[in-house]
Amino acid sequence: MKTVYVDNNATTRVDQQVIDEMMPCFTEYYGNPSSMHRKGGEAGNILKLARERVAKTLNAQPDEILFTSCGTESNNSAIRAALKAQPTKKHIVTTMVEHPAVKSLCESLDKEGYRTTYLPVDGKGRLNMAAFEASLTPDTAIVSVMWANNETGTIFPIRDIARRVKEKGILFHTDAVQAVGKIPVDAQDIPFDMLSLSGHKLHAPKGVGALYVRSGFKFSPFLIGGHQEHGKRGGTENIGSIVALGKACELALDHMDEENVRVKQLRDKLEAGLLARIPKCFVNGDLANRLPNTSSISFEFIEGEAILLMMNEFGICASSGSACTSGSLEPSHVLRAMGIPFTAAHGTIRFSLCRYNTEDEVDYIIEKLPAVIKRLRDMSPFWKED
Ligand code: PLP
Repeated sequence: MKTVYVDNNATTRVDQQVIDEMMPCFTEYYGNPSSMHRKGGEAGNILKLARERVAKTLNAQPDEILFTSCGTESNNSAIRAALKAQPTKKHIVTTMVEHPAVKSLCESLDKEGYRTTYLPVDGKGRLNMAAFEASLTPDTAIVSVMWANNETGTIFPIRDIARRVKEKGILFHTDAVQAVGKIPVDAQDIPFDMLSLSGHKLHAPKGVGALYVRSGFKFSPFLIGGHQEHGKRGGTENIGSIVALGKACELALDHMDEENVRVKQLRDKLEAGLLARIPKCFVNGDLANRLPNTSSISFEFIEGEAILLMMNEFGICASSGSACTSGSLEPSHVLRAMGIPFTAAHGTIRFSLCRYNTEDEVDYIIEKLPAVIKRLRDMSPFWKED
């Protein structure tokens, strides 16, 4: 059966070139990079190359890159390290629309005696800059603001935010898990102190990530153990996945410009096609500042999960804007923070494209989805066409 995968903000297919570079790590370069012998040396060399490739993608220095197991670990490590470095400061600033890898961590820190300000957004998902400005206090240990939102694709003004935070002498971290590989990220241009990224969002495997740590910052490890990663993270390096992440970063950097134009055209065609054929639906997010691959569309008066199940029958894989919490279907915290009415938030679908999607696939979604929406609305007691 035909499969159309448009859920790339959830995870991506691993690129064949990435797999090809990764495989010899299991059979040939299987040494432990900490070992003194030649096998250790070989592994150390490919680890070095991977670090250089990730650094180049961020326009950073290789020794500013620390490999982790995922974006979640990178976020946890960054925020905890900032708090540990400034034990007298108890205030954190973040946003209401962060991924749980930051949001739930801050909620947990609030229970440990910290105080977090969760900055609001407007109806388009844009950050309230007055609230941001007012939130910075002498007690603020760290500001953590995501680069691009995983649900709507909205891009925050990270340059302005980072510069303002640095003017106040506060540490700044950004969760760039959805940005790296999709849009340019430049450590020389934007003064973030720490930045998180994740392999499986950019065609590397799951279970590998990285944290950029600006040189000069006294970083304390989250995982305490051996002296790996220049003493910043204990644990033998996952060489195969790290090599994969390095290659995936290199490919993303080399092809970013042309891929973004192509993917954006496909995304825009998908949106225009659906909006023209389906009444009472709209696109969420800051349409002027969005990731080129992401489209969050609300179809009013029906359930996103029902749409997903019926699309699945046609082999279309996307995701909904709801999170199934303790048996009740709650719209996502992102859509709620944006004030999207419940009747629309419940029926929200996120389409996220990538370099493998084709125009035929977009045409297929445009052909199949209107009938799915009509069928569900015909069954809905809330739907009336006016
Ligand atoms: N941050 C954002 C914005 C994400 O979209 C995700 C994953 O969806 C994460 C963090 C977590 O990354 P990982 O799955 O590598 O832990």
